[in-house]
Amino acid sequence: MSNSNKIFLKGMDLPELEVWCKLNNFLPFRAKQLYEWLYCHGSEDVSVMTNIPNNCIEIIQEQCILSTLELISKTVAQNKKTIKFLFKTINGNFIESVSMVDEADRHTVCISSQSGCNLGCDFCATAKMGLLQNLSTGEILDQLIIIRRLSGLAINNVVYMGMGEPFLNYDNVIKSANILNNKKGFNISAQKITISTVGIVPKIKRFIEEKNKFGLAISLNASNDLTRNNIMPINKKWPIADLINMNKMYVKNNKRGKITFEYVIMDGINSSVSDATELSRILNSAKCKVNIIPYNETDGKYKRPSDTTIKEFIDTLYLYNKNFQILVRWSNGLDIDAGCGQLAVVQ
Ligand code: SF4
Repeated sequence: MSNSNKIFLKGMDLPELEVWCKLNNFLPFRAKQLYEWLYCHGSEDVSVMTNIPNNCIEIIQEQCILSTLELISKTVAQNKKTIKFLFKTINGNFIESVSMVDEADRHTVCISSQSGCNLGCDFCATAKMGLLQNLSTGEILDQLIIIRRLSGLAINNVVYMGMGEPFLNYDNVIKSANILNNKKGFNISAQKITISTVGIVPKIKRFIEEKNKFGLAISLNASNDLTRNNIMPINKKWPIADLINMNKMYVKNNKRGKITFEYVIMDGINSSVSDATELSRILNSAKCKVNIIPYNETDGKYKRPSDTTIKEFIDTLYLYNKNFQILVRWSNGLDIDAGCGQLAVVQ
């Protein structure tokens, strides 16, 4: 059977595997066994699935695809703790993922949900690629399966902050996050799985209404619509007031969780004391977190502010803050272009 006619077993959730088993006359408990082999063990070779009968192994070998990504390269940062992976999808498009191990040996992996992106954020390297494809559930999960195998380390945190806008590939992103969270899948706590969006409001609403327990981050990056319109075209469709309303809806529906507003701070764009004052004012309306991310320079158009400017910005936030928690993310892996907003593959 040619590859184009084969079935993607990797990426199926349990109900889908049960349907596949039924169609092939296997008992439903085989679906659970396959699920564990695919995700808990990350098996790409059906012959190692020791509790699967030979007739099932033969059908999988003949009709199914178990491996969706090809590893092209691996680049290790000077700190040895951050590694960028370049993968090729079955369609021949490229994606990148980043593995980061912190001082406490916690392993965080930043994954892509699309190859490229068509939302055109002016400061983002991925935007230069345009949109090449939405990733399948299997392609999203294979980034983690391959990184887990190569690093030999369990994965503690997953962030959907690599290439692409996750909420423009909503179904595959949520399905993959559920498999990551499932005890027989990756067994990663829902609070340790974070989906980051630029603010696709109908999908944020759906995410809240479906009562998803995963972390939610919104890339805000400006304290007023004028600035945000200039750097993030999506703001013309869903301006800041809509995002603040989504935060209020989230707080109403989640007694404990908080949305994280990410703020990539860029010199002379959104880094002044008055920007910080304005940001405090708009975020004080409902509980949330704000994550300040000093910009990782890509092509020279935008600059990272000096440490003094960043400190003044943060001090101003602390001065006016009543309702939100402030975090600062100093990215690792800048020497390999693996920092936030730096992922891009020019084909
Ligand atoms: S920041 Fe995110 S949404 Fe904007 S262009 Fe880059 S990948 Fe797309």
